[in-house]
Amino acid sequence: MSYDYDLFVIGAGSGGVRASRIAAGLGAKVAVAEDLYLGGTCVNVGCVPKKLFVYGSHFAEEFEAAAGFGWTVGETSFDWPTLRDNKTKEIERLNGIYDNMLKNAGVEIIHGRGTIVDAHTVAVGDKQYTAERILVAVGGWPMVPDIAGKEHIISSNEVFYLDEFPKRVIVVGGGYIAVEFAGIFQGYGSETHLLYRGDMFLRGFDDDIREFTASEMRKKGVDLQFNTNVTEIEKQADGSLLVSLTNGSTLEVDAVMYATGRKSKTENLGLENTAVELTAKGSIVVNEDFQTAEPSIYAVGDVIDRMQLTPVALAEGMALARNLYSEKKDHKVDYDFIATAVFCQPNIGTVGYTEAQAKEKYGSVAVYKSEFKHMKHTLSGLNERTFMKLLVDQASDRVVGCHMVGADAGEVVQGLAVAIKAGATKADFDSTIGIHPTAAEEFVTMREPAYIL
Ligand SMILES: Cc1cc2nc3c(=O)[nH]c(=O)nc-3n(C[C@H](O)[C@H](O)[C@H](O)COP(=O)(O)OP(=O)(O)OC[C@H]3O[C@@H](n4cnc5c(N)ncnc54)[C@H](O)[C@@H]3O)c2cc1C
Repeated sequence: MSYDYDLFVIGAGSGGVRASRIAAGLGAKVAVAEDLYLGGTCVNVGCVPKKLFVYGSHFAEEFEAAAGFGWTVGETSFDWPTLRDNKTKEIERLNGIYDNMLKNAGVEIIHGRGTIVDAHTVAVGDKQYTAERILVAVGGWPMVPDIAGKEHIISSNEVFYLDEFPKRVIVVGGGYIAVEFAGIFQGYGSETHLLYRGDMFLRGFDDDIREFTASEMRKKGVDLQFNTNVTEIEKQADGSLLVSLTNGSTLEVDAVMYATGRKSKTENLGLENTAVELTAKGSIVVNEDFQTAEPSIYAVGDVIDRMQLTPVALAEGMALARNLYSEKKDHKVDYDFIATAVFCQPNIGTVGYTEAQAKEKYGSVAVYKSEFKHMKHTLSGLNERTFMKLLVDQASDRVVGCHMVGADAGEVVQGLAVAIKAGATKADFDSTIGIHPTAAEEFVTMREPAYIL
């Protein structure tokens, strides 16, 4: 049977674009349908604009730090529309790059919402397209709870385009997006409250990292309230929001941002016309080759809810396209030792196991820790501190966990992740000569374990 395309991709985000380009480069006839924006969440309302905001939010501290180094900084002020609009211009430039990249690779871009008609057919608008294979790479969407006043809530979709920057804000959530945005708002001068319903935010990260981050954020002035949630949001006559909390108190703010999780965008996608199976949370179930229960339909990225990170979606899209269209069919995604960062202030960088996971997996584990004042802050007058931690499997001497909270932790840990993924031992770390003076050299000079588990 002949089809319009070899591969029809639904969603031109991180995973869909990568799979489309690689598949087309390997000779497949590919189309991709996109209904919102080329580049997906990461480029438009995720990693990229967020990191631009993070860069800008550091300036207030830098102005403060400058005096200790002899600088006199004149009056400063922050103009939100300038940041917002410069950011949007950059995103539009990236959208254009994605458009060119796909077209140059020979991928046909179809603007509109794709829905699945059957195992080999996708509808976009009033047209239908057939394909030997369909890839679902539709990503996710922020979840907002059903509470009174929920129409006043903003999510990460709206926060990048606000008309006015809030002077007072509540961020609700305990994941990395909530923590990052609390740092962003605080950095630009908002009175910032972060509410999380659990005991401690950043579940899944090493406990020391969570505690240390909380204490650094509090020092910078973020009001962290754990075991607290919102019950109601009421808009007042002056436009401000009166927010009632589970602890009986209220807060008056200008914006309430929810970052309480994302749901796979599988609703009304036509999956019921196929054998594709969903998890209870609505994510698509795939095997290790990203194939669903419907053999001609595949899925990658956030919609399969393995690790919701752009480099993971890219790796999945690439592995799938190569396995389908290249000679070699053994491309696998290895989910072990994937490094990640949280761009809060200071940053978190992490790779490998947490202390609790390492103990469970390896039994006897040596824990190395270091906490210090970054050299910069000996003159800056700021009281920010840096924390580092290494976990070493005692049986093999392999470094199985590496965690940092401090300036540029993501940059530092990315390099170490290569060594750790390759199986570096503590002896390898010890025989590595540091770069002086850096904070990162501490990772190769931690000699005595704090304790052995
Ligand atoms: C605020 C925020 C910050 C983030 N920061 C980071 C970070 O710092 N580092 C990191 O690694 N990850 C980060 N992420 C996560 C990252 O953005 C995602 O993991 C990544 O974008 C997933 O890629 P994807 O291809 O699975 O989905 P997406 O990038 O979400 O792409 C899916 C695309 O499909 C389109 N689509 C959906 N349904 C249809 C349909 N029916 N028809 C046509 N098109 C459709 C959507 O419009 C979208 O463009 C962040 C996410 C958010 C929300």
